[in-house]
Amino acid sequence: MLPGSPVAGQRVLMYHAVGNRVDGDVHNIYTMSRADFLRHIETLQAISTQHHMPFAPFRHANSSEIAVTFDDGYADALSTVGPELSKRGIPFHVFVTPSKLTSGDRRYLSTAELRELATIPGATIGAHGATHQSLTSLSEVDAQTDLLASKQQLEDILQQPITTMSYPYGHVNQQVRLAAQRVGFTVAACSKWGVNNSDTDPLLLNRLDMWAGDSARTIENKVLGYWNFLGRRT
Ligand SMILES: [Zn+2]
Repeated sequence: MLPGSPVAGQRVLMYHAVGNRVDGDVHNIYTMSRADFLRHIETLQAISTQHHMPFAPFRHANSSEIAVTFDDGYADALSTVGPELSKRGIPFHVFVTPSKLTSGDRRYLSTAELRELATIPGATIGAHGATHQSLTSLSEVDAQTDLLASKQQLEDILQQPITTMSYPYGHVNQQVRLAAQRVGFTVAACSKWGVNNSDTDPLLLNRLDMWAGDSARTIENKVLGYWNFLGRRT
C-alpha cells in the first residue's frame, strides 16, 4: 500500500472518558483531558474532509466512514462529549453498563443523566454488559443472562430499543457472540484492531483504539489504516 492511499472500509473509533479518570488505565492512555479531546476532534474533522470519510452513526457499513464510540458510560459523555460533537454535527455512540448508573460513582452517568444524553442530537446509546464482567469468563447461560439484562435495563430506562453493544474488555468468543445475537443485538463492537467491510461480522466489528497522547500524525495514521498490522496479532 502506498502512503496516502487509505485502507478501504469503515472505521469505528474507540474512546472512553474525557476529563474523568478511566478505571484500570494503568498506562494513562485512555484518561483524556478536554484539550486532548478537542485536538482529536479537530484532527478527525480535517481527515474526514481531506479523505472524503464522512462521520456516520455506529452501524455495519462497507464504505469509508468514521463512527465515534465511547465505552463505559462516563458522565462526561453528557457534559463534554455530547455538546462538543453535537454542535459539530458529528454523530456518536455511548456504550453504557447499566450497573454503573446506580453505583453512586460520580465519574459515571446517573440514570437521569443517561436519559438527558439520549436526547442530544446525534447521540445513540448501546449496551456494554450489565455489570461489566468479562463475558468470556462466564458460563453460556450466565453470559446470555448478563447480555439480556444489559439490553432490558437500558430499554426500560430509555423506552427505546437497544440493539447495539460493545463487549466489556473486548472479550468475546463464538459462544458470547451467539448469546449476543440470541438476545437481540444486531451490531456489536469488539476491541480488535482494524477497519470493517461487507465481509466483517456485524457482531464482531473491529475498532481503532484512540489514546489521549496521540499526535495528529498518529491519529491520521490510525484512521487511514496504517496501524492495521495490530489486528493481525494473535
Ligand atoms: Zn468497558
